[in-house]
Parts: sequence; structure tokens; C-alpha cells
Amino acid sequence: MVERVLLAEPRGFCAGVEMAIKALTWMVQVFEAPVYCYHEIVHNAVVVRAFEEAGVVFVDDIAEVPIGRPVMLSAHGSAPEVVEEASLRSSVMVDAVCPLVTKVHHEVRSMSRKGYDIIYIGHRGHDEASGAIAEAPDAAQLVDPREGLGDFSPADPHKVALLAQTTLGLYEWEGVLDDARSQYPELWTARRGDLCYATTNRQTAIEELAAQCDVVLVVGSENSSNTQALVRVATKAGVKAHRVDGPEDVDKVWLDGATTVGVTAGASAPDQQVQSVIDAVAPSKGIHLMRVTTEDEYFPLPPQLRRLMQTIQALVEGSVACSQPREKGPIEHDREFSATSALSVLGV
Ligand code: SF4
Repeated sequence: MVERVLLAEPRGFCAGVEMAIKALTWMVQVFEAPVYCYHEIVHNAVVVRAFEEAGVVFVDDIAEVPIGRPVMLSAHGSAPEVVEEASLRSSVMVDAVCPLVTKVHHEVRSMSRKGYDIIYIGHRGHDEASGAIAEAPDAAQLVDPREGLGDFSPADPHKVALLAQTTLGLYEWEGVLDDARSQYPELWTARRGDLCYATTNRQTAIEELAAQCDVVLVVGSENSSNTQALVRVATKAGVKAHRVDGPEDVDKVWLDGATTVGVTAGASAPDQQVQSVIDAVAPSKGIHLMRVTTEDEYFPLPPQLRRLMQTIQALVEGSVACSQPREKGPIEHDREFSATSALSVLGV
């Protein structure tokens, strides 16, 4: 019988996901359905289903967005031609790319302009990897961390850069980095690496937690890269780890003989799902929080959305009530509003 759940902290929503979910919630509140979204807003089945029920249509080809309809681009970052096409087709285009993904796009563009060949370590077919490579397809080559450098062959071995998807496993790409460093001693890499703070913190937490658990449950969806990375980190730490979307996926056989169960969540998994999974585990002696660090990151809503909302606010104040230029509206209070509250507006 499970006696206690060790709950990892930090877990779940990162600042980029918070921003993207809140932004799309504003879109469905402001516009009549359908609102379009290029790619899943975040890689989580529960979040995507909630937005579909609220009138969002997710598309994988920007040409599927009818001319004039509002569109949002996902948090994973989009190819430059997609951003341009979306701006042309749509009356309102909001790019909800995470600023930390934008940083990597910038690095790809900048190193390519300087004449570097780029090793981009990422997972083939992942939206984030596709968007980043598209910034400089002639200079950047996708290298899967499991496959290694393969046929990468730069025009000038003195000008090679190495960049990475933000959500890889902490150690799984170090083999490629070591190989690249030994083959190209002048290798350029981002000073603090490209793995984002949320990926690093969640993996550090699960690593510490795994040592004290009989089994670990990672809440998140199949196509969530950072969720899968958490499962791999826990497994590497020597504990059985299972990914679950929600309580319905918890197999009681996994818990046979376990007294301590670790629970964490990928960066796109809602806390409501984490709570339901804990309820399904039903620990007899309760929940113990294992905090490795405190996160205070906040990413403001996309500038296109802020401008739109401020315009609407000014119109309402100007026409319905007397103008109150010094009073703050909902956009200025955004930091006090969480993605978890936004999802409860949608009924999650
Ligand atoms: S996981 Fe990291 S890069 Fe991805 S959205 Fe969250 S903060 Fe941004």
C-alpha cells in the first residue's frame, strides 16, 4: 500500500506555457469561434481538448487558416515563412513563442550570418526543432542526441556552432557535445547552454526525488519532449518511471509493493491533472513536497495581444464609461492571473 507521495517542486507549468495558455484563453474570450492555432498551443492532450471545446481549431499547415480569421502561433516557435504567411492571412496574428525558444532562433540566424555550420541537437519531427532549423536550413543540421554527429560535415571546421532544443534531457546530449568538441576544438556554444531553466529545474528535482521513491509517475503527454525527458532522467537514476496523462492511466500493478511514490509533471501538464493522479495513488500518510528551488520567472503576454487588448480597453473606456487613462486594465494585472485559473475559465 502506498504510504506517501513525494511531490516534486518545481513541476508542471513553466513561464512559457503559462504565457501561451493565458494568451489563447484571451483569444477565445475576445473573438467568436473559431480561433485558429498553428500547432498544438502546448503539447498536452488535456489542454488541447479544453481549447478545442472552447472553439479553437488546431492546424499543422498555416494555409488551412481561412483568410481573415484570428490565429495564434504555438509556444514552440514557428518557421519565419509561417510567421509571415500567418501575418498575411490573418486579421489578428499573435505569436505565443516562448522567449527562450526565440533566443535559440536568434542564435541560429546570427551564427549562420557569420558563416558557421550549425549542429542543432534535437528530436526529429518536434515542432521546436523544425521551427529553429527553418531559420537557416542551409546552415543548420538536425542531430538526434541518440544518433550522434553522423554525416555532419562543415564547410569550414574552424566555424562550427552547436545549439540545442530547450527541452532535452540534462545529460543525453553530452556525448554529441564531447564528440563535437574533440572534432572541432573551436566549437561555438551558447555560454549558458540552450536547455531552459524549467527543463533543468524539473530534471534536477526528479533526479533528487527518484533516490527516495519506489516508483515515479510523470504527468504529461506522449508528444511532450520535456515530459519524456523526465521519464528518462528518473529511469537513469535507477527507479521505475511511468508517464501518465491523467488518473485513468495509472496502472495499480505499478504500485504493488510500493510505499513511496514520486510524482512530477512536464512543463505543459496542468496541476489539475497532477492532483487527480495523486488522488488515484491515494497515499495513506499524505503528500510531502520536495522543493529543489523556487521559480519566479514570468513572461509577459505576446506584444500583438497586449496591443490588441489595450486598444479594446481604450475603446470601451472611451465609449461606455468615462476615460480613465491612469487605471490599470486586465493586461497590466496579468502577472496576478495564472494559467491554472485560465484553464478553469475553460472548465478544466
Ligand atoms: S519548457 Fe522552457 S523553452 Fe519550453 S516553453 Fe517552457 S520555459 Fe519556454
